[in-house]
Amino acid sequence: SLILAIESSCDETSVAIIEDGRNIRSNVVASQVKSHMRFGGVVPEVASRHHVEQITQVIDLALREANVSLADVDAVAVTEGPGLVGSLLVGITAAKTLAFAHNKPLIGVNHLAGHIYAGQFMAEMKFPLLALIASGGHTELVYMSDHLNFEVIGETQDDAVGEAYDKVGRILDLPYPAGKYMDQLAQEGEATYDIPRGMIHEENLNFSFSGMKSAVMNLVHNAKQRGDTIHKSNLAASFQEAAVEVLVKKTSDALKLYPDVQQFILAGGVAANSGLRQGLQAMLKADFPKLQLIIPDLKLCGDNAAMIGATAHQHYLRKDFASLALNARPGLMLGEE
Ligand code: ATP
Ligand code: MG
Ligand code: FE
Repeated sequence: SLILAIESSCDETSVAIIEDGRNIRSNVVASQVKSHMRFGGVVPEVASRHHVEQITQVIDLALREANVSLADVDAVAVTEGPGLVGSLLVGITAAKTLAFAHNKPLIGVNHLAGHIYAGQFMAEMKFPLLALIASGGHTELVYMSDHLNFEVIGETQDDAVGEAYDKVGRILDLPYPAGKYMDQLAQEGEATYDIPRGMIHEENLNFSFSGMKSAVMNLVHNAKQRGDTIHKSNLAASFQEAAVEVLVKKTSDALKLYPDVQQFILAGGVAANSGLRQGLQAMLKADFPKLQLIIPDLKLCGDNAAMIGATAHQHYLRKDFASLALNARPGLMLGEE
């Protein structure tokens, strides 16, 4: 299939042309990061206005880069959720308009499924598989017995890991989104501060990151009161060590509980994290040497439309098409119909 895919769930306006779910003909990503930086986070109204301003140009650019016209496309796919309602609606409206005007089937895609399917560009999926979604809004372990079949077997009870990274980075005066800068600092520092490993000893596959964030806040607050200086890179390294240790431990626990798993996919924006990539690689090599590890290229870890097109191909094969009544589903979960 040749699919035009649109992603606009948060602050990236992206359009991709994807062939047979695995071949990227184009993947244009227009980021709004600079506009949100001065507010220290995404402002929903600003985000949807940017999407409106960008979407037409991004569609044209994606078609031009792929050297295809809308007539060549087999279907139009779009993220239906989860995400910001105003942002989602811009992509959905554009997708419906294209599908209607060019008489093409419309496909609604779950953004989190998209993060997992970004792995398809590295290697073909083999089932059953386990995926760890570590992103700005979610932290979950997902078991897949087949395409588009998702079972969430563990998830965060409070903050997502990316959210915790961004909040801790903000305390350390790093620019938004801080995850990337925290990662850079962590690589220069040593883990000399004591950060709790939330829920690490609990016998379930759930996560908690708010305690780690509070621990950093307290450390910084107490240091200020005493007039001490905080060693930023050491604090970043300490936070990173704690977060990675918990993510690796719970992944290892999940793999022991599901020994039939053939493949492990690391997904979401935090999959770009150097410590997490190394930690998972080392654990899998030592304890599950037969398991295939898939980590998307850096540019496919964050939000992009290529991953939406990869997922949409599976819906296309099943003729799982949406009507023009398709609406935004801001709270959509994995495994929900
Ligand atoms: P969701 O996918 O859950 O709806 P989202 O789309 O906002 O949320 P993503 O775009 O997948 O999230 O990921 C963005 C998050 O990844 C941000 O919190 C960002 O700080 C974090 N991130 C990006 N690079 C790194 C890194 N190298 N280390 C840690 N975190 C990172
Ligand atoms: Mg984003
Ligand atoms: Fe995302």
